[in-house]
Amino acid sequence: MGIRTGAQVLDGLRDGRQLYMNGERIADVTRDPRFAGGARTVAELYDLQHDPKRIDEMTYRSPTTGDRVGLSFLEAKTRDDLARRRVMYKHWHDHTLGMFGRAPDFLNAMLSAWASGQQAFGQYGGNMRAYYERVRENDLITTHSLTNPQVDRSKNVAAQAKDLAAKVVKETDSGIVVHGARMLATFGAYSDELIVMPAPSFPLPENTDDALPYATGFAVPMATEGLRFICRPTTMHRDGSSMDHPLASRFDETDCMVVFDNVKVPWERVFIHRDVGIFNSIYARTGAVLAGAHQFATKDLAKSEFMMVLAFALVKTTNIDGFQHIQGGLAELINQTETVRACLVASEATAALSPHGAMIPGPWPLEVIRLGYGQMFRRACEIIQIMGAGGLFMVPSYAELDGALSEDVARYYQAANADSRARIKLFRLAYDAALSSFSGRQQLYERYFAGDPVRSAGGLYHRYDTKPYAERIWQTLDRFEKDGR
Ligand SMILES: Cc1cc2nc3c(=O)[nH]c(=O)nc-3n(C[C@H](O)[C@H](O)[C@H](O)COP(=O)(O)OP(=O)(O)OC[C@H]3O[C@@H](n4cnc5c(N)ncnc54)[C@H](O)[C@@H]3O)c2cc1C
Repeated sequence: MGIRTGAQVLDGLRDGRQLYMNGERIADVTRDPRFAGGARTVAELYDLQHDPKRIDEMTYRSPTTGDRVGLSFLEAKTRDDLARRRVMYKHWHDHTLGMFGRAPDFLNAMLSAWASGQQAFGQYGGNMRAYYERVRENDLITTHSLTNPQVDRSKNVAAQAKDLAAKVVKETDSGIVVHGARMLATFGAYSDELIVMPAPSFPLPENTDDALPYATGFAVPMATEGLRFICRPTTMHRDGSSMDHPLASRFDETDCMVVFDNVKVPWERVFIHRDVGIFNSIYARTGAVLAGAHQFATKDLAKSEFMMVLAFALVKTTNIDGFQHIQGGLAELINQTETVRACLVASEATAALSPHGAMIPGPWPLEVIRLGYGQMFRRACEIIQIMGAGGLFMVPSYAELDGALSEDVARYYQAANADSRARIKLFRLAYDAALSSFSGRQQLYERYFAGDPVRSAGGLYHRYDTKPYAERIWQTLDRFEKDGR
């Protein structure tokens, strides 16, 4: 089949899934006003793949069918393959200004890494490869849920007083049965499939059989019997024009808790089963974290470029760009963009072949982004708040431009270098990017979506080889001692 159009993607989302928000079951995410804006954006991304000007940069020929398939599925074997994937990611993330972090390329990249490293899944490796090929050939959208509900983080999931986390409760000839909840699946409303895998920040204890039911990895279609999704409320305001909430009304990618009510998973969809060793090591052994990080660093480049040009536009309207601290803020945003770009390029330049022949981007530049971009984005929001000051929220709704007070609005909302229409549109955009509940969710996303930064920092400390640096200190001190100065 190969790449789908936006219309085909939207058709696929009308599958009878059990998705709830505000106490109601959502009948159709493509039509419900709280979801339709995001669904339309997803459709736009899939239509972009068919744009004759970009099709060669966004797709490649499937090695099994020869059909055109999405480039984010490419199993990278060379540095050039990584660069091709990056170009594809950038098209999607420029379109969404980096605000649709969980666009499907994220999991496509991780799936391709899992498939390339299928040996790491032991006896279930063939299932992973078949699943990856099915998703690639049908251009399906996947979401993933890795973490368990926040109940008692001082104990591992197998030692909780309250038995809430999803686990395998039964095995049958046809598969496993899963019951309980997983904490989070971003993009669930817009996905065709749910993947359940380990979370790198939450390893299971190796020395107890109690952990075995949680040592699971599998995938099921969103509309599977017994699978329910509870969405957080939308960040989109339903009053006013979408121009009042230009980002939230297009890019709220949704987040949901996943409830498994005795969900049956056929064996061919099981990737990890009762194996804590594989559960705890699968990311390290397949390079999937780095494949995902290469995608999100590209998303972060699109996002930092957007925040930078937004600030440039903002400061020109009211002529504040002559002030030194404003120039300082702009310089910080330039540096953010160039830091992200440099790390991305460096990750490709330092990429290396894994033992199973996959080209894995260099880890250390991507760690700079994984641990640093959350802070960069929060700082970018702060810089835009400093620049916009009172004007960031003291703009009327877009409808006011054509309302009863349109003459007042046209006169009193002008800025030195913008008429009131341009100023209101721009400041509503800046508000949504840097101050609104949409922005708050983006800030939390950037802080946590790639795992807890506290635990990730500890992991970096343990993995990074500091021995040569420590030796240099002692050698230098020896040299100083000997030279007698
Ligand atoms: C907007 C958003 C979208 C997300 N999307 C997804 C998704 O699609 N799929 C998915 O699987 N996950 C997703 N995540 C979840 C993400 O993986 C987790 O937020 C992250 O792993 C941290 O876990 P937690 O939120 O449960 O925080 P907790 O683990 O409960 O941590 C809470 C606080 O306690 C501290 N803490 C807890 N345990 C320890 C410890 N052992 N050592 C030191 N400090 C500790 C943390 O540092 C933190 O400050 C998303 C998160 C956000 C915010």
